[in-house]
Amino acid sequence: MRKYGHWIDGVETTAADFIERRSPGDGELIAAFAAGTADDMAAAVKAASDVFEARTWADMPAGDRSKILNRWADLIEANAERLAPIEALESGKPIKYAHGEIGGSIDMIRFAASLGLTSRGDAITSLGENKLGLVTQEPLGVVGMIVPWNFPMVCLFQKLPFALAAGCSAVIKPSELTSGTALEVAKLAAEAGIPDGVINVVTGAGDVVGEALVRDPRVRLVSFTGSTRVGSQIGAKVGERIGRVALELGGKGANVVFADADIEAAVDGVLFGLLLNMGEECAQGARLIIEKSIAESFVEELCRRSEKVRVRHPMDPEGDVGALIHEGHLESVLRHIERAKEDGAKIAIGGTRLTEGDLANGFYIGTTVVTDVKPDMSIFREEVFGPVLTVTTFETLDEAVALANDTEYGLANGVWSKNIDTLHLVARRLRSGTVYANTYFETSPHMPFGGYGNSGVGRELGLRALDEFVEYKSTFLRIGERPHNYPHTL
Ligand code: NAD
Repeated sequence: MRKYGHWIDGVETTAADFIERRSPGDGELIAAFAAGTADDMAAAVKAASDVFEARTWADMPAGDRSKILNRWADLIEANAERLAPIEALESGKPIKYAHGEIGGSIDMIRFAASLGLTSRGDAITSLGENKLGLVTQEPLGVVGMIVPWNFPMVCLFQKLPFALAAGCSAVIKPSELTSGTALEVAKLAAEAGIPDGVINVVTGAGDVVGEALVRDPRVRLVSFTGSTRVGSQIGAKVGERIGRVALELGGKGANVVFADADIEAAVDGVLFGLLLNMGEECAQGARLIIEKSIAESFVEELCRRSEKVRVRHPMDPEGDVGALIHEGHLESVLRHIERAKEDGAKIAIGGTRLTEGDLANGFYIGTTVVTDVKPDMSIFREEVFGPVLTVTTFETLDEAVALANDTEYGLANGVWSKNIDTLHLVARRLRSGTVYANTYFETSPHMPFGGYGNSGVGRELGLRALDEFVEYKSTFLRIGERPHNYPHTL
């Protein structure tokens, strides 16, 4: 069993109380995380604020910062075999995807390090013959990062290396269910040469340590990934004290499949978009919006392939789908399915808890396909966050787009067709931060990620990823001795 304190100012602290974490895969006790207090959080924010004021990291030449960030990426890579089981056992995801998450996080550090090297201000030379405008960037200061349990590393690394590359310092509040890897990578950061106080991790309950982080005026930006419910509360609280906020929230993505699509590829893509991370995935393709003429045969094929999906213990290297995060969440997914049946939808496959063999002590559910779903049903509207697909049919392109956009969310959607016009027309009209055309769930640090509507505020990643973490300063310079010509010159 791993037991962790907080990581504050380069030191692992002790704690009076701990939160025990049992693996959702089999119920085994795997870790205990310090149950932080508001005082722990205040100490972490002070450490981050002090090192920022000392300018140790903030004023370090970008080339040196970049080298250290790359060294950190190397250390995480060297420790991948140790980190992956921590991620898999705490979150319930299959070990192969835990490795994928670590690989993606390393890519993000290296990308952030390169952005840090190339980021620059502007000289505006067109203000007049004796004038020069300088636009300079300064690191914002202390950034608070609150992250969820479904992708503990990826959600963190969409923020942390970019904030560091910009010269900021960070206080991290990981999910109380999956705090292990955040603490482990913070220790590796110290080994890589990131100065003490630049990365701090305080574990514990959201309404205790998360709340203290959100309320602290020394925290200039709160960057939050999690549910729309909590994100909206955090946005309001940070707004009250005129802080900056970035919100990556929930989703209810659709895969729109036209009859002229490559059906083989579309079935695979829809299944992958549904099942990645057990469906505990903000960008999940949770709704299949399918052309009526092919709906029946497509669903039959989907169900046939679903039977081949291997639902296994997270440590099984062959597993495609692991365990849901905890029992309460499993029950919530099953309730959503029951409600759909009451509303008149039909279950084509799945819909029940799996308990055979070594799945007995964990929280597993099979691929579930719900047909005859109408847009006014709650299963079409609410984020279920499990391996549950809704099926709704359309007859015209306009109807397909209207159905896909009939949601409060707007994180990601997919469209499948061999007709390039259809792809472009639909991609333009889908209201989401990401559109996948003839593919689903691709990521790259080069591509911005974020949501329309209730899926959030701001974008992470992309070539402008450092913008969130800097202040821009405009300096007007007069050159030479030409007279000023203020309109009010006396
Ligand atoms: P959650 O909102 O319950 O919790 C997220 C984090 O916020 C946790 O660390 C939690 O402890 C903390 N928290 C809870 N209450 C708080 C409070 N009052 N003050 C401050 N912090 C508080 O979300 P979750 O259940 O951990 O994650 C699942 C949700 O995250 C889903 O809705 C999913 O769509 C969303 N998500 C979004 C993205 C994205 O990039 N848009 C990525 C992953 C997950």
